[in-house]
Order: sequence, then C-alpha cells, then structure tokens
Amino acid sequence: DKLTSKEAIELENKYGAHNYHPLPVVLSRGEGVYVWDAEGKKYYDFLSAYSAVNQGHCHPKIVDAMVNQAKTLTLTSRAFYNDVLGKYEKFATELFGFDKLLPMNTGAEAVETALKIARKWAYEVKGIKENKAEIIVCENNFHGRTTTIISFSNDPVAKKNFGPYTKGFIKIEYDNLQELQEVLESSNNIAAFLVEPIQGEAGVYVPSEGYLAAAKKMCADYNVLFIADEVQTGIARTGKMLAVDHENVKPDILILGKALSGGAYPVSAVLANNNIMDVIGPGNHGSTFGGNPVAAAVAIAALEVVAEENLAENAEALGIIFRAELTEFCKNNHLVESVRGKGLLNAILINDSEDSSTAWDICMKLKENGLLAKPTHGNIIRFAPPLVINEAQLMECISIIKNTISEFK
Ligand code: PMP
Repeated sequence: DKLTSKEAIELENKYGAHNYHPLPVVLSRGEGVYVWDAEGKKYYDFLSAYSAVNQGHCHPKIVDAMVNQAKTLTLTSRAFYNDVLGKYEKFATELFGFDKLLPMNTGAEAVETALKIARKWAYEVKGIKENKAEIIVCENNFHGRTTTIISFSNDPVAKKNFGPYTKGFIKIEYDNLQELQEVLESSNNIAAFLVEPIQGEAGVYVPSEGYLAAAKKMCADYNVLFIADEVQTGIARTGKMLAVDHENVKPDILILGKALSGGAYPVSAVLANNNIMDVIGPGNHGSTFGGNPVAAAVAIAALEVVAEENLAENAEALGIIFRAELTEFCKNNHLVESVRGKGLLNAILINDSEDSSTAWDICMKLKENGLLAKPTHGNIIRFAPPLVINEAQLMECISIIKNTISEFK
C-alpha cells in the first residue's frame, strides 16, 4: 500500500535517526527534471540530490543498463573479476585521461581513498618520513562526514563531539594563492592539496579566475599532488565535463561520485596515473560493493548520456541565462543580495539581516509553487536542476523563483 505524505513523514520521524532536516515533501516518482509527491503533485527538482541526478530522474538508458545488469549479475565482490568492471575502467580512464581508476561507492569513501593514496605516495615515492605526511585543505570545505574528513571540517555541526580527530591536515583560506605558497614553502612534508573546484556545500563559492591553474602549478613546483574533489562539480554540472576543465587543469588525483551514476546507484571513483595509483597493492584498500557489475554498467550509461545529450553545453548556456535573469531581478528586489555560480550550479544570497529563517521560508514557498530547492545553510539557496532541463522549462522556473521571492516583500 502506498503511504500518504503524512504517514511517510511520521514513520521516518519515529523509526529513523534524525540525521537530516528535510523539507516536508515526500517524493514518490521522478522523470527528467520533474518529481511527484505521494499525492501526485508535480515539482521541478532544483536540487538534483545534491547534483547527483544531472542526467535527469530515471533516465531510460541508465535505468535499462541497471535493470539488465541486475537481471544478469549484481555482485561478486572483488574476490573475483567480473566482466563489466574492466570495460567501465577503460571507458572512464580514456574519457578523463588517466591511466587507472579505483572504484568506490560514495563520495566520502572516494575522498578517503584519495587521501590514503596521497599518503602512501608521499612515503613511497616522494620520500617523506613515515607518519609525517601533511595534506593541505581549505577553510569551509565539504568532502563528506567520515571521522577523518570531519577532522578537517569547519562545520561545528558535523564535527563537535566526534573527536578525537585525525591528524595531518593544514587548513588554508580558499581562493588564497599566497597562503598556499607560504604553506608549500614552510614544510617538506606536504603530500597533497585537496580542493573543491567550486565550494558547493559552503554556499557555491566560485574561486577567482586562474586560481585552480595557478594552484596546480604551485603544487607541481613543490612535488605536491593536486587532488580535485569533483564529486559535486563534475559530470557537466558547471558547463564542462569537469570544473577544472574551465582552466585546463589536469589534477594528479580526480575524485568523482554523485552524477557518475546519474543518481541511479551509488558509484564513486578515484582516478590517477600509474606513477601514483601503482602505490596501491592487493589488500591496501577495498570495498565489497566497489566496482560491482551494476555500478559499472550504470556508470558507462550515465557517462554516455552526458555526451549524447550535450549536457555540458546545455548547462553552460542555460547557466548564463539563469544568472543574467536573477542578477537583473535582484537589482530591484532587496531580499536577494547576489547571485553566483557556474553552469547550472548556482546560488542566491538572501538578505536576512532581520530574520535568519527567510531562506528556509522561501524554500517552503517555492515548494508550494512547484519547485524544490534548499538552503545550503543559513541564507544561501542553491539552485541545481537536472542538466536535461530545456530553456522553456528554465524560464518557467525563473518565473516561479521571481514570483515566490516577490511574495516576501
Ligand atoms: N565531496 C563533495 C565536494 C561533496 O559535495 C560531497 C557531498 N555533498 C561529498 C564529497 C560526499 O559525498 P557522499 O555524500 O556521496 O559521501
């Protein structure tokens, strides 16, 4: 029997741990840019499961790949080979231009994997003394919520009372090349610089033009690995296949997740060349589900859809329209302070000096008006629709957003 929205919320609240604060909407179906709630009300999805559903909900090609593989073979573990993983690894490494791929399931797992690879590389290739390796990270980063990752988080909610924390991280200001240079200069024990090409969860902070290219070059000068966490920004979200492509930067280690599967299935990956990835040997790292045949089949299909449907080009073109329209709107609306983003990863800053709940209230009103979005936190609302959205749909959504915010005057 299908639950009503009210029943579904009551069950989750009673029997589920309260580790999220969802908008009170219960989704039961999705197709393309749309989702429907349990009562059949239709919404535009402007979150895309935190940029996982770039290819649109229930994309037929991705679903077919998943169902066909699920009927054939779902899991062997890596105790044996399977006949899909190698095909996917060849396809993805050629597409992104790396020698090797290490398959994982979630974004946070892939970040942990990259950190382990960087540390082992530092000891075995760079020659740093054991247990001395340090990794540079940025203020206000978000890379997940494992015990090691929260150790270098700024977010008190994710961090407080979860200590003791993992050592070996140096935090610098995001988008600050001088500080990066100073830290690189200050120590011979630096293994890597871990960075989000755009800080998503922090509130969609786009660094200055040239920052990533200059940071990559600085790291290379000090034989420090440049690790790009493209879990949120990758797979066409920002108007290029990878956000680092805007500056022609090739990371030493690339981390992918979320839309690598189009949101159909948990699939993440770490990519690197042999000189780095070959530090990993049997038993060093693994996961029962990582690289399973369903994940591999889904990822191939999800990556093919990005190219076949020109999702990067679409995100680039529609992102320009979105920011232009909302920038114009905010000139005459005192509630919207600014608009920022790249491609279809955008955010508006709500001026809520009087009432800090305004961003949340706007999202509640947007929901009533048929569009789902959420504050990253505080007064920042992120807008990240599936990249299969077309111009007419986007224009309709822009109207919904403008009209809704205007109700708050
Ligand atoms: N890295 C970045 C940049 C992210 O945005 C996220 C998720 N928001 C993660 C890592 C963690 O991914 P997951 O939730 O799949 O573990």
